[in-house]
Amino acid sequence: MAVGMGFRDLTHFNDALLAKQAWRLLHNKETLFYKVFKAKFFPNHSLLEAKEITSRSYAWKSILHGRDVILDGACWRVGNGKSIKIWQHHWLPQKHPTKVLSPMVETMEEATVDCLIDEGTRMWNVAMIDGIFAPQEAEEIKNIPLARKDTKDSLFWPLKKDRRYSCKAGYRFLKDDEVGHQVAVQQDHEIGLWKKIWALNCPNKVRNVIWRACHNSLPSKCNLFRRRIISEQCCDRCKAENEDTLHAVWSCKLLDNVWGVNNSWNFRNLQCFSSFSELMAWIFDHQRNPALFAFTVWSIWHQRNQSRSQSAHRPLNFISQWAHDSWAEFKALKIAPSPSRLVRRTWWKPQVHEMLKINFDGAIFAEEKSSGLGVIIRDRKGLVIASMATRIPQQL
Ligand SMILES: [Zn+2]
Repeated sequence: MAVGMGFRDLTHFNDALLAKQAWRLLHNKETLFYKVFKAKFFPNHSLLEAKEITSRSYAWKSILHGRDVILDGACWRVGNGKSIKIWQHHWLPQKHPTKVLSPMVETMEEATVDCLIDEGTRMWNVAMIDGIFAPQEAEEIKNIPLARKDTKDSLFWPLKKDRRYSCKAGYRFLKDDEVGHQVAVQQDHEIGLWKKIWALNCPNKVRNVIWRACHNSLPSKCNLFRRRIISEQCCDRCKAENEDTLHAVWSCKLLDNVWGVNNSWNFRNLQCFSSFSELMAWIFDHQRNPALFAFTVWSIWHQRNQSRSQSAHRPLNFISQWAHDSWAEFKALKIAPSPSRLVRRTWWKPQVHEMLKINFDGAIFAEEKSSGLGVIIRDRKGLVIASMATRIPQQL
């Protein structure tokens, strides 16, 4: 094993061994090894929460280092959700990424997965999940099966068949992780884009279309064709090119009628983009008014859907003005944020006495003729007792 091993390989190998120690501490709580370490280094916490500052012991520091390797590579299986931190831990069932990417909700930095579960019914709190996470991630979470009984969360090693950690698996993980670093950079980039989309001064329906366009999940003809829902993918407008997302809302020749009438979008003829997310990133970096851009994309997409379903729709040369007007109207109305935004904004402070703290706020969705209401009730430790986010149709 040691022949030809570079320093980096040795480091990985050492880390993999330390991780094995940590894995044993996490899983075999009957051993003397566990009892000694527990008593000495983490009497009041679990190993997962333990911090280094309490000791100068080399052995202990090494174990903590191993634990961090485990936390990096292992995945959580959701039991009661009490050990899993929503934004810090890996727990989504998909292959990659297994960490939550939706922007973190202020005041919920340390929140654990159990606050997303209704304790009475042992089901996901759908309204809360929809309010906090981006649509795709919310779906992902709601599909995680929950145990009927209160069971503990458990860690498993996803890259191995028997789901248990071994030194060899750990070593391979650390070695791949060097490559994985590039994936992490890509992910950081993605998180940055998400945050910007969510910060756009637009209604949720607009943000939603932008977000889906960035993730290539709008039902463009190319996407429908790939899923074998339709048999051809040619753009209905120009009938010259295939209609992928970028073509549908940006590069189609006929959209000169929309993008061509406002000087802000002059770069359309000069700059080439390979995907909508690349275009969106460029807009955020270079444009003073990404919200107007977002409104315009939404209007184009909306018009395209209406003309495809043969409903009444505006002609293309009206779209630019229409988008501009809706954007101006939205700005002027200063519509209250949607419940998902409100959760993020709310400033919460723990209470000193035995009492419940209730945060609530409302929102008005003028176009959809409905209102939204969001309420979160917490105890003095900040644990969520109950929450709701709902839409109420307007009474005439
Ligand atoms: Zn076209």
